[in-house]
Amino acid sequence: MTVTWEELGWERVAAGVGRCRLPGWDCTAGLVVGAGSALLVDAGSSLAEGSRLRALAEELTGGRVTHLALTHPHFDHVFGAAAFAGAEIFGAVGMDTVPAEELRADAVRGGLDEATATEAADVLVRPRHLVCGEWTLDLGGGRQVLLANVGPAHTAHDLVVLVPGASGSPEVVFCGDLVEESGEPQAGPDAVPSHWPAALDRLLDLGGEDALYVPGHGAVVDAAFVRAQRDALAARFGVSR
Ligand SMILES: [Zn+2]
Repeated sequence: MTVTWEELGWERVAAGVGRCRLPGWDCTAGLVVGAGSALLVDAGSSLAEGSRLRALAEELTGGRVTHLALTHPHFDHVFGAAAFAGAEIFGAVGMDTVPAEELRADAVRGGLDEATATEAADVLVRPRHLVCGEWTLDLGGGRQVLLANVGPAHTAHDLVVLVPGASGSPEVVFCGDLVEESGEPQAGPDAVPSHWPAALDRLLDLGGEDALYVPGHGAVVDAAFVRAQRDALAARFGVSR
């Protein structure tokens, strides 16, 4: 790396793993650096934001963003995907069926200006690789990540990204909006609350006690935080153990 994460406004989470908190909705975008490859996790809320993310990621890695994982079909996580048309794009199975108009309308309700939302919806890029269960992605240089479809929960199509620890670094789990730190987890009309606690149980099984959990919105948390949020969601939605 020629520049540091911090110099570009990113947070280094572990060796070769970082994230930035995007303006507006405080949405996380993650980056995992491989050998001659790089995986971005989520693409930002507009074409322009996707382009900015791509430029920053490529400055950090000195190479191209070769892979993009989309954690779920919400505008603030996917509207920048068209800026990564050359990358291999992954998402949970079925996320390609969510109508672009639905995302556009939700974006406008969420405060994105109408022209920006319409532009992003018009060129919306769908994942070419649809994950049901688990998918191991080899980024080279001994760097493998696991994409796991743990939903439905926050949406019908929730994907998490697990990055095993390397050279003394902790494991990192990109949780999408299954976990939020900066506020209550958002459960919209497309959420499946009855399954949400089970999805977090699965997330904790995969990540374990010592992993760093990166929420879709907010600061990095630990397993105890995720477990507490799981219990709060179970109580909120009346889901028994
Ligand atoms: Zn969301």
